[in-house]
Amino acid sequence: MSSEVHSYEIGPIRPPSEGQDLSLLLRVTRNCPWNKCEFCPVYKGSTFEYRSVSEVKEDIDKACLVKEEIKETSWKLGYGGRVNSAVIQTIVQSNHAYEGDIRAKESLINMANFMLAGERTAFLQDANTLIMRTPELLEVITYLRQSFPQIQRITSYARSKTCQKKSLSELSELREAGLSRLHVGLESGCDEVLAEVKKGVQAEEHIQGGRKVVEAGISLSEYVMPGLGGRRWTEKHALETARVLNLINPDYIRLRSLIISPFILLYQRFNAGEFEELSEDEIVEEIGLFLENLDCSSYLTSDHIANLLPEIEGQLPSDKKRMLDIISHYRSLSVKERLKFRLERRLRSYLSILNLDGKLREKVDEALNSVEQGSEEAEKKVDEVIHALRHPFV
Ligand code: SF4
Repeated sequence: MSSEVHSYEIGPIRPPSEGQDLSLLLRVTRNCPWNKCEFCPVYKGSTFEYRSVSEVKEDIDKACLVKEEIKETSWKLGYGGRVNSAVIQTIVQSNHAYEGDIRAKESLINMANFMLAGERTAFLQDANTLIMRTPELLEVITYLRQSFPQIQRITSYARSKTCQKKSLSELSELREAGLSRLHVGLESGCDEVLAEVKKGVQAEEHIQGGRKVVEAGISLSEYVMPGLGGRRWTEKHALETARVLNLINPDYIRLRSLIISPFILLYQRFNAGEFEELSEDEIVEEIGLFLENLDCSSYLTSDHIANLLPEIEGQLPSDKKRMLDIISHYRSLSVKERLKFRLERRLRSYLSILNLDGKLREKVDEALNSVEQGSEEAEKKVDEVIHALRHPFV
């Protein structure tokens, strides 16, 4: 049988926390209106598009239809409206229109996950939803809540500059309408680093934008990128980022260490020898300095695969010492122990049957065999294999 399938548009990324919470993903704008950051590959080659309110509302209506189809099928199969894999398989297998329709399958899976999690959270995509004119964004949020009344939390990405440009009353109105949290890419509080990587914002704008979001009562999650200043700015990057965050005092600080790959613009400067990449150990040092200088009450988390030490997580200031102890413990390991730890951890995080081709297998074996030596040569091999393994995750 082949009949029309319903689907709604889903953008390329969402924060890790929204993945864990199985949020409904709704693409309110497309791509990034700035799109110049040298470390970010996500929207390069794509142009920003402002979607009309009616178009977004149509997508919300379609999301409702996807939900209805899941429920109806579940009742027909005797599952009483509950979602499970048999329901999803039956929907896909009974309608040929799903074949090759990636968007329809994505919508179906996203809706199934959202329903399984109790329909509690939604994430508005893409990179800077807050850029939408406030009355229009208010209309979208209100319609979304009317359509899915169980939603308790609506979150989105935003740029500091946009947060700074919105008035406090606009942000407060958005919070009252249901916008619960904004995820902002702070990356650094150091003006030199921000300018070099073309972040398009200065530390002072980060502070003003962030403080306004906090004052409006919207939960704020700020992303920091250890390693972004390279060797040249590592100390200032750590100190200034801590200073800026102390002044903002966001609810969450999320670490996402820099990964250099050919897919980012920064690679050109790196390749030309103009950007000196920090080693993983130097990034740990930098995080230590940053953490020592944090004086706020945020929750710090390392919830990204790019970070070597996901254990650096806790409530500030009470968990600060415990987190610093983790760093000290890592630093106290011998060179050999650190190499072994890094290799094992990265293999666990990055290695998949999909990227283990013949050449990579050889590199992994070589690194595993050399690690016992704890030599500079062994370190080089471990670094090489980690670089090769993580390319698919950039
Ligand atoms: S603003 Fe965000 S999404 Fe846009 S280029 Fe910069 S990091 Fe990427």
